[in-house]
Amino acid sequence: MQCFEGKSVYKGIVMGPITVWKKNDYKVKRHRVDNVTQEFARLKKAIECSKEQLQRLYDKAVLEVGETSAAIFEVHRMMLEDEDYLDAVQNMIQTEQINAEFAVAMTGDNFAKMFAEMDDDYMKARAADVKDISERLVRNLCGLEDFDLNTSDMSIVVADDLTPSETVRMDKNKILAFVTVHGSTNSHTAILARMMNIPALVGVELDLDTLQNGMTAIVDGFEGKIVLEPDDVMKNNAITKISEEKNKLQLLQELKGEENVTKSGRRIDIYANIGSVIDIGYVLENDAGGIGLFRSEFLYLGRNDFPTEEEQYQAYKQAAQMMAGKKVVIRTLDVGADKQVEYFNLGKEENPALGYRAIRICLKQPDIFKAQLRALFRAAVYGNVSVMYPMITSKEEVKQIYSIVEEVKEELNNQEIPYKVPEQGIMIETPAAVMISDELAEMVDFLSIGTNDLTQYTLAIDRQNEKLDDFYNPHHKAILKMIQMVVDNAHKCGKWVGICGELGADVELTEEFVRMGVDELSVAPSMILRLRKLVRDMKV
Ligand code: PEP
Ligand code: MG
Repeated sequence: MQCFEGKSVYKGIVMGPITVWKKNDYKVKRHRVDNVTQEFARLKKAIECSKEQLQRLYDKAVLEVGETSAAIFEVHRMMLEDEDYLDAVQNMIQTEQINAEFAVAMTGDNFAKMFAEMDDDYMKARAADVKDISERLVRNLCGLEDFDLNTSDMSIVVADDLTPSETVRMDKNKILAFVTVHGSTNSHTAILARMMNIPALVGVELDLDTLQNGMTAIVDGFEGKIVLEPDDVMKNNAITKISEEKNKLQLLQELKGEENVTKSGRRIDIYANIGSVIDIGYVLENDAGGIGLFRSEFLYLGRNDFPTEEEQYQAYKQAAQMMAGKKVVIRTLDVGADKQVEYFNLGKEENPALGYRAIRICLKQPDIFKAQLRALFRAAVYGNVSVMYPMITSKEEVKQIYSIVEEVKEELNNQEIPYKVPEQGIMIETPAAVMISDELAEMVDFLSIGTNDLTQYTLAIDRQNEKLDDFYNPHHKAILKMIQMVVDNAHKCGKWVGICGELGADVELTEEFVRMGVDELSVAPSMILRLRKLVRDMKV
């Protein structure tokens, strides 16, 4: 039995088998081979094995996410039959008398580079595909297991670190908990864990090489620890704690259908944060009054090409329809910084959090923005949709957005496509936006405070940097004063104002937010009923 401590991202407790997710556990070394025929045979076997894996992934994805999204696995399978690619690999093995994995890795890099430099956006996006299939082939040549949570049972995922795109690719129904060696508590992977309602620990000093898939573990998010191969006493304690937790959650269920009103009659909207349409299940299950933040960029992550306008329209429309008249605030694309998407070709930046991200990309690449706005406006016909723009720093940006909105309206009018321009709001997540929130509030329908980035930019602390977790303090007086300022400025203009950053779910501050006059809190679905209980017990 071994016990390790870490920083808890979501409080909950589970027990189950672990799955170790090692991404860079192989280093491809070049070595000379005497028997080229044998190398060809190894390559052939690895190709067959890769095709079988891709077929399985395709079949599963068709059932879970539909044919369009599953098509990528079919594309990968076809790429494994591409003659140019295979000729290049075989030629390298033959002429240089080298091992197949090195030839595959080199060819993958060469082809990816070639695609990335092409002018055509479709071909550019193929760079990520060729890299993906080459990595799969190398893993199979090295005899490494395919990390395929889609075929394994429910387990605790243990990893060195996880990026948001890796996390969104995983089948959420198969994950009991996340435990990572690195990662900050404010990262988007941590946010995803909270949204998925599963215990998660970061900063756990585990040596992944000593772990084996299937080992039993207890992850205790209340105490911030993971116990490997627990003894019977520990197991029994965990079983008791798991059932106590279940009972507590059961009690909260009784608050479903009740209002979020304090004892003195003050009302606050409690909405949910989501990353995809699949999360709406959690929203409805927890009786949220609406969706206060749909992080639309997750539609762009974990794939190799832009989602089409049609795909986006279907997702937003489904959200609007499923929420049946309740508010659905969809935040426009916020990629960049920690949410890197290869096919955007954002390039390397010295300070990505201060870089080319969110609305900046949308204003510089209006074609991407317009496709999303068209999808949003078309979907708005089907429910109570609002659109929200992230990372605003100036009135000029809002003006530029409105002028793109006008172009989109004109195009849709000319094409006689039905649409509705929804309520439009902005996120307040930069100190600049706070300071001019009086003027910004006049231009928009609502404000929503993104405390995750607001804390990062106000305290000059990279929210991704795990070493700074102890300094990252969203309770800082400066942040609380800023929130009050934004609330007052919004109300002066008769606009509603919410908090959609993680601080909105901080139970220590709920009463203060109600006192401040915050109209809406948008939180992980699992927090909805807990906040409802707090609000209903308040005397304010
Ligand atoms: C925020 O910054 O508080 C926010 C809600 O946006 P994100 O966490 O996605 O950056
Ligand atoms: Mg943000």
